[in-house]
Amino acid sequence: MAIRTVVWNEFLHERQEEAVRAIYPDGIHATIAAALGTDAGISVSTATMDEPEHGLPQSRLDETDVLLWWGHRAHGSVSDEVAQRVQRRVAEGMGLIVLHSSHFSKVFKLLMGTPCSLRWREAGERERVWAINPSHPIARGIGPNITLPNGEMYGEPFLVPEPLETVFISWFQGGEVFRSGLTYQRGAGRIFYFSPGHETYPIYHDAAIQTVLRNAVHWAYNPAPAWKDVHDAPNVPVEQSPEPLVAQGASLHAHGEAGFR
Ligand code: ZN
Repeated sequence: MAIRTVVWNEFLHERQEEAVRAIYPDGIHATIAAALGTDAGISVSTATMDEPEHGLPQSRLDETDVLLWWGHRAHGSVSDEVAQRVQRRVAEGMGLIVLHSSHFSKVFKLLMGTPCSLRWREAGERERVWAINPSHPIARGIGPNITLPNGEMYGEPFLVPEPLETVFISWFQGGEVFRSGLTYQRGAGRIFYFSPGHETYPIYHDAAIQTVLRNAVHWAYNPAPAWKDVHDAPNVPVEQSPEPLVAQGASLHAHGEAGFR
C-alpha cells in the first residue's frame, strides 16, 4: 500500500510575490507533490493554511503516514490546536519532514523544545549539500553532494537538540556551514529536517533535492505505529507484573521489602 503523504504549505509567498509565483505558479506544495507523485509507492495530497483547520483536521491526520511542512511568513498564524494535533500524531507514529524556514514553525519548535534559531543570509550564494552519511537511506542516489547554484545561507549555531543522525552538512560560498539534514524520533514518529528550499530559488525543481524528499518519505514512514496508548501511562498492578512479586501467598508488603501502593 502506498504511503499516504500530505504536503502542507502556508502558501503566501507564491500568491503575494511575482518572483516566487514565477518559480512556483501553483505553490511550493504543488511542485513537491508532483515530485513525490513520480514514486508509485507514495500517494500524495496537499493542504494549505487557509483551508479550514489549515487543511489538517484530526480525521485527515489520522489517515496520514507522512506529513511535509513548509512555512515561513505566518508561523504565528498556525493555530496552537493544529500544531499540538500534529505533535500528537508524530508521537503516535506519523512521519514528519520539516522544510527550510519551518525550523521556526510551531510544530517543529514543539517537537524540539529548543529555540531552533540559526544565522541566515540571502545572497544567492553557492551551496554544497554534502552527504556526510552517504549510506543513510535518505542520501541514497545522491552522490557525494548536491550543488545548488543559489542557496539562502543558513549557518550554525543551529539551536536544536543533538540529532539521532546528521545526514547532510551544507557548505556555503560565504564560508559558513550548517547541519542541513537531521533526523529525530519523538515517540513512535520519525522526523527529518532538511534546510534547502528558499522560495526565491528553484530548489524544489532540482532532481537531486526531489530524490532526497522521496527518500525521506520512505524513511519517515512507520508501517506499524499502532501506539493507541502512546499518551497513557498505565498502572501495572502487582498481580500483573511480568515476574511474580507475590510468592506463596505472602505479599512483599508483609516482608517489608517495598511499597507498592
Ligand atoms: Zn528562506
